Amino acid sequence: MGTHLYFSTQIGTQKPVTIVNNGNSCPFCDVDGLENIIAREDSIILLKNKYSTLKNTLQTVIIESDDCDSELSTYKKDHLYKVIHFAIKNWLELELRKDFKSVILFKNHGPLSGGTIRHSHMQIVGLEQVDYKENIQLECFEGATIYKDKNVEFNISSKPKMGFYEFNVVLHDMTAINNMADCIQTAADYILNHFHYKCESYNLFFYHINGIISCKIIPRFVTSPLYIGYSIPQVTDDIEQVAEKLKKFHQQKHKID
Ligand SMILES: [Zn+2]
Repeated sequence: MGTHLYFSTQIGTQKPVTIVNNGNSCPFCDVDGLENIIAREDSIILLKNKYSTLKNTLQTVIIESDDCDSELSTYKKDHLYKVIHFAIKNWLELELRKDFKSVILFKNHGPLSGGTIRHSHMQIVGLEQVDYKENIQLECFEGATIYKDKNVEFNISSKPKMGFYEFNVVLHDMTAINNMADCIQTAADYILNHFHYKCESYNLFFYHINGIISCKIIPRFVTSPLYIGYSIPQVTDDIEQVAEKLKKFHQQKHKID
C-alpha cells in the first residue's frame, strides 16, 4: 500500500494558472477546445485532466458550469443539486471500476485552496496505489450540530482533521443528496461571506467510508505550523457558538422551519 503520491514536476510547470488575475485565458471557458470529455449534463462537463501531474492515478475534472464567474455558494438550487448529483454519481461509478485502491472527489476554491484554475470545478481522482481511507479517523466527522434529520447531519468538527473550523455533512441516506447539497452550500456561503475571519478560499473533500458518504467543507488560511511540523490539529473554543449562528443562517437561507 502506498503512502505517497508521486507528482510530475515536468507536467506541473506546464499547467495554466488563472486563479490569480494574470491575463491568462480560461481553458474551461473554451468548451469547443475541450478534449477527452467523459460525461456531460447541460453545462456540466466531466473530462480527463489535461495536465495529469500525479503518477499512477486517473485525474478527471468536473467543470461545474459555462459561467466563469459563478460559484457553488451562489448557485440556484436546481443547478446546485445537478452539480452535486453529477459529481457523486461519477465518483461512485469510478469507485465501482475496481481499478483503484481508492477514488477521491474534492474541490478547490480561492487562492489559498491549492487550486490553479479559478473557473468553478471539482476533481475526481482514482488512486491506483493509495487508499485515502487509511488516514481518516471517523471522529473527525463528529461535532457541534448545525442541522440534523434522519438522513443528513451537518456539524462543526469537535476533533478536526487539520484544525480550526471544519464543517461536515454526513449523508445517511442516498435519497437525501439535495439536503446534503443545501448544507454544503450553506457552509461555502458562510465561509466566503459571513465568517468572522476574512476568507476567500475553501476546499470540499468527499469521503465514502463504510458505505456512508461524508463531505468536509474547510475554510483555508495559511496552514498552522503546528499541524505542518507536528501533525497536531487545533480546535477553537467557540464551535458551539459558531454552530448556533450557522443554524439560523441555514434555516434562513434554505427556508427550513
Ligand atoms: Zn472560465
